[in-house]
Amino acid sequence: MKLYDTKRREVVEITPLTSGVLKIYACGPTVYRDAHVGNMRTFLLTDLIKRFAQYQGLKVELIQNITDVGHMADDTGLGGIDEGQADTEDRVLAQAKSESSDALAIARKYEQNFHNDLALLNIQPATKYPRASDSIELMIELIKTLIEKNHAYVGQDGSVFFDAKSFESYGVISGNKLDELKPSYRFESKEDSQKRFHADWALWKHASVNRTQLIWETPWGKGYPGWHIECSAMSLKFLGNKIDIHTGGIDLRFPHHEDERAQSNSAVATEVVNHWIHGEHLLFEGKKMSKSSGNVLLVSQVIAEGLDPLAIRLSLMEHRYRSQMDLTWNSINASHKSLNKLREKMQLWSQTPGSVDSNYLQQFESALNEDLDTFKVLQLIRTLEKDESIPAGNKYETILKFDEVLGLNLASEPMKQPEIVITQEIQSLLDERLKARSEKNWKLSDEIRDKLINLGIGLKDSEKGSEVFPL
Ligand SMILES: [Zn+2]
Repeated sequence: MKLYDTKRREVVEITPLTSGVLKIYACGPTVYRDAHVGNMRTFLLTDLIKRFAQYQGLKVELIQNITDVGHMADDTGLGGIDEGQADTEDRVLAQAKSESSDALAIARKYEQNFHNDLALLNIQPATKYPRASDSIELMIELIKTLIEKNHAYVGQDGSVFFDAKSFESYGVISGNKLDELKPSYRFESKEDSQKRFHADWALWKHASVNRTQLIWETPWGKGYPGWHIECSAMSLKFLGNKIDIHTGGIDLRFPHHEDERAQSNSAVATEVVNHWIHGEHLLFEGKKMSKSSGNVLLVSQVIAEGLDPLAIRLSLMEHRYRSQMDLTWNSINASHKSLNKLREKMQLWSQTPGSVDSNYLQQFESALNEDLDTFKVLQLIRTLEKDESIPAGNKYETILKFDEVLGLNLASEPMKQPEIVITQEIQSLLDERLKARSEKNWKLSDEIRDKLINLGIGLKDSEKGSEVFPL
C-alpha cells in the first residue's frame, strides 16, 4: 500500500519493518467532550489503513492513547500557542468543574462515548487503548532518561523541559525550523522564564497548590505531564522502538508530532516512526469543524435525525483522506439514501450464487494501493452496479469483498423506517407542541420535543410543519 508520508513529502510504499506485522500508533482523543465528526475522519483514516493491511494479510498492532490529563485548553496544536498558563486549564479539569464532577469521572464518561461512536461508525477497536493517567510511571521513566541523556533539564519550580536545540532534526515533519520560530509562537506563560530557549517545551509541569486532582509525585516534586510526552511514552512502551505508521489529524503535525518525534528519537537514539500520515481538515457546511469555532457535528446528532451513522462513514469516503472536504447535511442525507439503495440491491443479488469478479477486484485493490483512493472505489461500485455483463451473484460477492475494507455493512438489511403508532399520548404531545410553537414558546416546545424523543419519536421541523419519524 502506498500512502502520503508528511515527513518525506511524497507518496511512498509502506513496507512493514517486521515482516507480516504492521505497527500503527494513532493519536487518540482528549476525553473532556464528545469527539466530533472531524475527529472521526482521522480515526476513520486509521481504520481504513488497518482494514486494508488486514485485507492484504498483515497482522496489525494498533495502539491509540486516551488523553485524560495534561492536554491544556490552549494546546491548540496549530503552532500558535502551546504551553498552558495555569493549572486549571487542563481540559479535563475545566470540564469537570463545569459539570460539577470529578475529573476522572468526566474522563471515563467521554472515553465510553468515544468507544460507542467508534462502534457506530464500524471503526474496528485498537489492540489497546492506554490511558495517560495509567501511564504516569512510564512518562517519569522516560523523562529521567531524557534528563540523563542531556535532552531535558529541570526548571526552578520542578517543571522539566525538553531542550529543543539538543535535537538536531527538529522540524522535519512540518518544515518549521527552530531558529525561525519566533519567541511568541509558544504562549508566554509563567514557565517561559525557566526555559533556556523559547522553543523548549514542558515534559512535566509543576502543580500549584490550587490544583488538587490529577497530580502525581515525582523526583522533581508534585505535578502532571505535558501532552506531548504522553504519546512518546505510550508508543515506545506498547509498540517498541520501531513503528511503521503514526497517524493523526493535520493539526497535530506541529508542534505535537515534532515534539513527540524529538522526545522518542532522543530517548532511544533511533528514528522511531517510519511514516507520518495525516488526515486533512473537515469542513462542515462550509466552515472548519472545531470546538473553538462552535461548528461541530456529533455522531449522536446524525442518529437523532433518523439517519444511519454509517452514512457519515460513506460521506467521508467520498473524498480521499488528504483532501479538505465539506460535509453537509445534504451529503449525509444523500449517503443515507444510497446506502439503503445499495443494501436493497445486495439483498436481491444475494439470491443467486456467484463469485468475486477478479477484474473489478483488481481495480479496487489498485485504487486503495494508490494512497487510499476511496473516491475511486465508490465510483467503481457505481460502475459495477450498472454493469450488465456481470451476473447478479458476482456483483454481490465482489461488493461483499470490498466491504471488508469499506466497513459499510452492505450485506445487512436496509435501514427500515418502522411505522409509528401515534398513541393518544403522542398525539396530545404533538398538539401541545404545535400550540407552543404557534405561541413562539420555544422552551416548552423543546421540552415536549425531549419527551417525544424519550418515547422514540423524532421530529423534523420545517416551514411546512413538523414531520415525525421513529428513532
Ligand atoms: Zn499524540
